[in-house]
Parts: sequence; structure tokens; C-alpha cells
Amino acid sequence: MKKLGLLSMFLILTIFISACGTNEEKNAGEEKKPEKVYKVGVDTTYPPFEFKEGNEYKGIDIELINAIAKDQDFKIKLSPMDFGGIIPAMQANQLDVAIAGMSITEERKKVVDFSTPYFDAGLTIVVKKENTSTKTVKDLKGKTIAVKKGTTGAKYAQDNATKLGIKVVQFNDSPAMFQEVANGNADALIEDYPVISYAIAQKDLGLKIVGDRLNGDQYGIAVLKGQNEDLLKKINDGLANLKKDGTYDEIIKTYLGE
Ligand code: GLN
Repeated sequence: MKKLGLLSMFLILTIFISACGTNEEKNAGEEKKPEKVYKVGVDTTYPPFEFKEGNEYKGIDIELINAIAKDQDFKIKLSPMDFGGIIPAMQANQLDVAIAGMSITEERKKVVDFSTPYFDAGLTIVVKKENTSTKTVKDLKGKTIAVKKGTTGAKYAQDNATKLGIKVVQFNDSPAMFQEVANGNADALIEDYPVISYAIAQKDLGLKIVGDRLNGDQYGIAVLKGQNEDLLKKINDGLANLKKDGTYDEIIKTYLGE
């Protein structure tokens, strides 16, 4: 009887100790694993979607991705770069996410997965303020058109270069492209309507918008194709929550007014 009691006590103690051991190991394991910080590619200069004010990045895209990360409880780090470098950086595993006024296109869908659309944009032609001869895309014949590398605007110009009889010159960022037309080095440029209308409203760039929008691009948040389903779900859920609770409208209002 006494023997049995000792044995069972020993057994209970052994089980207890080993249970403690696994718990400790588990906790230690969890602590050691660093929390994933998702690297988010953003365009360097693309107001009102992303821009630097002092040392801080601001804009619709910046506020949206921060609010989504907060809502869905994940951590992010911004990586500003030229737009043309964003998809290649994703493919090289240097970025997990991109939010850069990036239009959802069939071509891009081959390499990235997009969130639900979060903004309606579309391309437009922009010329020097004094230009009265360019009213539609047909008037660009024989002209030099400035575009930004890797954009839907660049693709539109290149795809239609022969048909429209235009010469295409490429720039790394939007301000450089605006400058080129303001200087008279190029005759026109192609840019997203909300971006150029915001830029013109902010500052007299010596430029004006002409003609109808060339297409109906919509912006989406991109993750690398087939590798980030959980993250994409979080982004879509977060976006839906922000639209529901009014945060999305508030962000848009901050930059674009009513
Ligand atoms: N919306 C355009 C595109 O996706 C331009 C984006 C940008 O210049 N940041 O190509």
C-alpha cells in the first residue's frame, strides 16, 4: 500500500515536471520567433496617394495601409521607391505588399494578386497651359509624349505609339515628367486623372488636362501571387471594415475634400 502510494506520487510528479518543461519550451519558442513585419512598396512621389512631408510619409495610400494594418493587427514597414521598381522588387521577394496608386490590370494579375478595388482613377492627357491645338488624343500625332516608367500610362503610349504616330519618352517619377512638359521638352504627358488634377490644384504647374479620360483604371493593393492568401484576406477584410466604419471616407475627405 505504502509502496504504491510512493510510486503514484513519483509518477504524478514526473508528469507534472515534464508538462512544465514542454510549456517552458513552447513559450521560449514563441518568444524567439520575431513578429513578421510586412514590407510595403510605395511610390516615392505620388500625391495625394503618397508623398513626404518633413520626415513623414502621408497620403491616401499611406493612411489606408496603416489603418488596414491596425484593424487586422499586422505590422508594416514602408519602402518608398520609383513606381517602375515596385513589381520587380516584389518578384525578388524584397516587398510583401504594394500600395502605390497601382491600377489593377490583367497583365499585372499574372504576377500579383490584387485586393478589391479601392479607388477609381483613369488616364488623361496633359499639355502646357498655353497649348490650344491639342484637344483629343488624335491631336498628338507627330508629338513627343512623356510617360512614367512601368505605368499604365507608359503602356498606353507604347501600345498606341504607331497608331497615334507619337514618340514616347520615359521618366522615373511623376514630377520629372510634369517638368518635361512644362519646360516644353515634351508636348504632352499621360498621367492618372486624380493625381494630375490634385497637382494642378495644389500648385500652378503651367499644365492643363485635355480631352476625356482614356480608360477607367481602378487601384488595388497588390501582394505577390499565390504566396500571401492570408495577408490578402486580411487586407480585404480591413478595407471592408474601413469602408463600413467611415474611416475610408474620412481619409479620402482629408486629401480630396467632400
Ligand atoms: N496607376 C498607374 C499604374 O498603375 C500609375 C501608378 C503610379 O504612377 N504610381 O501604372
